[in-house]
Parts: sequence; structure tokens; C-alpha cells
Amino acid sequence: MPLKSPSRPSPSFSQPARETATQHQKQHYSKPVLAAYWTGPVFIITCHIGVVMALFTGLSLGAWLWIAFLYWIRMLAITGIYHRLLTHKSYSAPKPVKWVGSIIACAAGQMGPSWWKGHHDEHHLFSDQAGDPHNSTKGFWWSHYQWLLGGNFLPSKLPADVEKDPILRLIDRFHIVPAIALGLISFALGGSEYLAAFFVSTTLLFHGVATVNSLCHQFGTQPFHSDDHSRNNGLVAFLTLGEGWHNCHHAFPWSARQGITKIDGQIKYLPDPTFLFIQGLQRVGLASKIRLPFTKDATELN
Ligand SMILES: [Zn+2]
Ligand SMILES: [Zn+2]
Repeated sequence: MPLKSPSRPSPSFSQPARETATQHQKQHYSKPVLAAYWTGPVFIITCHIGVVMALFTGLSLGAWLWIAFLYWIRMLAITGIYHRLLTHKSYSAPKPVKWVGSIIACAAGQMGPSWWKGHHDEHHLFSDQAGDPHNSTKGFWWSHYQWLLGGNFLPSKLPADVEKDPILRLIDRFHIVPAIALGLISFALGGSEYLAAFFVSTTLLFHGVATVNSLCHQFGTQPFHSDDHSRNNGLVAFLTLGEGWHNCHHAFPWSARQGITKIDGQIKYLPDPTFLFIQGLQRVGLASKIRLPFTKDATELN
């Protein structure tokens, strides 16, 4: 049954101990890093404006297939690499998987691995409280995109583990390069029509990822205890390759599988394409130490 109280005690095994926002030391950013980071919003705004191009070029079946391909491949890099691998370490993978996955994720125009993880760490640390960059209690549109428009745009702290890897750090600072390169590839493939398709895909992808922060903290079920407003939402799960099972994710942030619910006290599994991808990586030797709740080895308390 859904549990609706947002003020439940935080399960100690599923979330890091909360700190107050004031205890969080602010990161210092040099001018070159600031310049590199601010290319991100400029790019995303350009893509939104670029969508209008499609009205003039039209979109053929090939262009729609390109939109879909670019949407799903980049969504997978964000969910499977940025989120479940780099941020939550829900499985282990060789460094080249992290590097290649991060380059593909950068092509989404949603910033690099350090920036992304820095913000997401804060989201889990302070979820739906002061200190959460996209705190859903400040309103739907705030959590969807408005949080990006002000001082929250810069993470309070860049994650030390990602920053320690010089390649990931390089990818983070040059995050805009794969994004622009993919636009150019699109243009080379099919001229203005495919460039318009790239703009459409990138804009849809931006809002697809954003629904996890907005819809999934407002609408859906709460089968598990989590000290926030996170919810399982099937529509978002479809749009985000399984990330919409967000209440499960907040209850078990370290789990490689997010498609889990509880019905009449029984654990049921839900469609989770990102988890299938991780299992696929494991089959070809590129993923190991997959962490899962409700198995003999895992602590199962929720
Ligand atoms: Zn959340
Ligand atoms: Zn997360």
C-alpha cells in the first residue's frame, strides 16, 4: 500500500546521514571552469529554439528514427552510467565503460559527470529539504527546470571520486564538445532536417530526464519508506528507461535495479531497461558486483 508520510524517519541503510545545508562547504570554481559550465545552459536553450527549425524542414521517417535513436542511447548513458554507475556505484565497471558512457551522456547537453554527480549527491543528501537543488516542495516547475536558472546551477561540491579520474575530469570540463559534435554529425547525415531532429531529440531528452525530479516527486505510489516525496511513476519509468521507479530508488539508492515495488507485502519486479542493460554489460564482462536488495546478500529491511 502507498505510504504517504514524508516525515518518516530515514532508513539508515538506504540514505546517507543528512547534514544541514550550512555544513556543506561551497566549491570554489575557477573562471575557465565557470566558462566551461555555462556553455551547458546556452546549448540547451539553443536546442529549445532550434526545435522551431523542424517546422520549416519537416521531419521524415528517417529523421524521426534519428530522434528516437539519439533519445534512447543518450538516456541510457545518463541512467546507466552517470546515475547508477558513477553516482550510486550500484555496480562496478572498467574505466573505459565510464569514459565512453560519460562522453555519450555529455552529448545530451546535460553537463559532465562531475557536475551531474555533484548535484545528484545533494539531491539524495537533502531530498525535498533545504539544500536539495531541485527540492520538489518549492513547486513542480522549480523541480523540473527553474532550479537550473539561478545560483543552484553550480553544485556546492564536485565529487572527489570523479574528480580523481583525470579522464572523467577532462570529459566534465569539455562536456560541450560531444554535444556539439553530435549536432554536426546530425547535420552531416541529413542536412538541416537532421539538425532539426537533433534539436528535437535533445529537447525531449532534457524534459524526459527532468520528469524524474518533477513528476516523480509529486505523482505516483510510495510502496517503500523514504524520507522524502519520491514516488514510483510508470509514465516516467517508460520515458527514462526505468528511472521512474523513483520511490524504490530513494529507498535503495545503491540498487542497480530500480524496478521494484511491494504489493500486499510481496516484492514485485517492474520493467527496468537500464537494469537489463547492466545485466547485458555483466554478460560481456563489463559489469560486476551488481548490488541488489531482496537477495540473500543484501540487507533487506524496508
Ligand atoms: Zn529524487
Ligand atoms: Zn539517484
